[in-house]
Amino acid sequence: MQLTKKGLWAGIIHEYREFLPEIGTDAITTLHEGNTPLIETSNLRDIFGAIRLLLKYEGLNPTGSFKDRGMTLAVSKAREEGVKAVICASTGNTSASAAAYAAKAGMKAYVLVPEGAIALGKLSQAIMHGALVLQIKGGFDDALNIVKEITKNYPVKMVNSINPFRIEGQKTAAFEVCEHLGHAPTYHFLPVGNAGNITAYWRGYNEYRKKGAISNLPKMMGFQAEGAAPIVAGHPIEHPETIATAIKIGNPASWTNATSARDASGGVIEAVSDADIIEAYKLLASREGVFCEPASAASLAGAIKMKKDGVLNDGDTVVCTLTGHGLKDPNTAINSCPKPTKVAADLKKILKAMGL
Ligand SMILES: *Cc1c(COP(=O)(O)O)cnc(C)c1O
Repeated sequence: MQLTKKGLWAGIIHEYREFLPEIGTDAITTLHEGNTPLIETSNLRDIFGAIRLLLKYEGLNPTGSFKDRGMTLAVSKAREEGVKAVICASTGNTSASAAAYAAKAGMKAYVLVPEGAIALGKLSQAIMHGALVLQIKGGFDDALNIVKEITKNYPVKMVNSINPFRIEGQKTAAFEVCEHLGHAPTYHFLPVGNAGNITAYWRGYNEYRKKGAISNLPKMMGFQAEGAAPIVAGHPIEHPETIATAIKIGNPASWTNATSARDASGGVIEAVSDADIIEAYKLLASREGVFCEPASAASLAGAIKMKKDGVLNDGDTVVCTLTGHGLKDPNTAINSCPKPTKVAADLKKILKAMGL
């Protein structure tokens, strides 16, 4: 039998090299991130009618979130510069990704996370990949400020999304959406935390249009959690609160880039409640078979809100990015659902419990 090679995916740097900053091949550090599925929804017609709704499932990246797209580039560039250690502040996923890519590159990773506010799966990743994890008594914004101070004075490279290579890598998700659809969507919905990803997608769409690959641009629709919605409020939030820990951020680093993307695209940045987020989170898992983490579901919660408000129309193509995998945060999943039924190891009792 002859084996045929089916265009195996080499990771976003190799696949999109002409769109990315130059980098020497020897420095490339990849876990084959990217090439995530764009999943057509099947069971949400009662809500969306004749709107075409698709899910860009970024939870299927190597460490389970979109952060890997930026991290491959940030860590590869750091490696090219001869850097020996990377550092980040994180609500969880950046630390998981930084730790994994640093391990692959043979570098040390330091991560600062808010104590008690990071999901279990993310913490386990950072620890397993050998990062030095420092849990600080403070929020993400405090952690980021300290990281900025450290990198001013010590030879460690910051890999938060203010590292310009992060955004560059993350824009490749927009390229993939266009390739899958054959055009850009009408609307693109995203959760907004530090606002790097909405910035990155907007850049990606614009670069593809400039290249002539697409002719339209989507409206960028960003959604913050109600208790952590500085962009919506128009001022930083000192004590952000939300169940969606990945977007529990009071002073986004890419604030002005996000509002520019919103305004230039004719989109919105609005807020959704934690209850709306959890409802969307459960809908995706129970009706679509897609398990994302709570923050990710802010995109769908936003789309549901915009549909109710009459913003979306039949025939529109709507993409929701699901930023991270549901297994990142098993506690929220378990606490959002009824407890499994306990039943004796007895056929009759089991059949009764099954309603048969
Ligand atoms: C980082 C992250 C976000 C927020 O992305 P920003 O670029 O900071 O706006 C949303 N969801 C998940 C799962 C994340 O890890």
